[in-house]
Amino acid sequence: MIPKPRFLQKRINEVPIGTFKEIATVQESASVYDALSIFVERRVSALPVVNEEGKVVALYSRFDVINLAAQKNYNNLNMTMREAVASRAGWVEGVLKCYPHETLETIIDRIAKAEVHRLVLVDADDVVRGIVSLSDLLQALVLSPAGIDALYS
Ligand code: AMP
Repeated sequence: MIPKPRFLQKRINEVPIGTFKEIATVQESASVYDALSIFVERRVSALPVVNEEGKVVALYSRFDVINLAAQKNYNNLNMTMREAVASRAGWVEGVLKCYPHETLETIIDRIAKAEVHRLVLVDADDVVRGIVSLSDLLQALVLSPAGIDALYS
């Protein structure tokens, strides 16, 4: 059996994999128009939807924006995020979370099993603290594996 790389046992808060500051989020009371503006400004692929306490309640992705156009709902950009999230049809990427103490291995397993593009890193109160995306994992594990091995073996 091929031994697992040791860095897989590192906790996500110990490795520079993911984004942990200036996370783009959208309030559930904000409009779809607001969300579109954030997408244009921040160029991210998804926004955690948060309530007044900053707790994540859903995920709104670029894919949802495409569906909005497909359903000809783009004349209804005043809808709140709460309404937009509730009216999504078909398959919806749920909001999957991860916690700072979880290992890279746990996080990769969760992304793979759920077939999602990213996990939202939250604290014990469900407040958004970061994003760990497939792009981040690919960058670390595929494009610079020598670097990560040197750092953590
Ligand atoms: P992605 O768009 O998911 O492929 O991710 C590209 C980069 O943007 C990765 O480094 C992610 O961690 C980061 N990222 C994704 N979503 C957000 C967000 N809502 N706020 C800040 N950074 C993000």
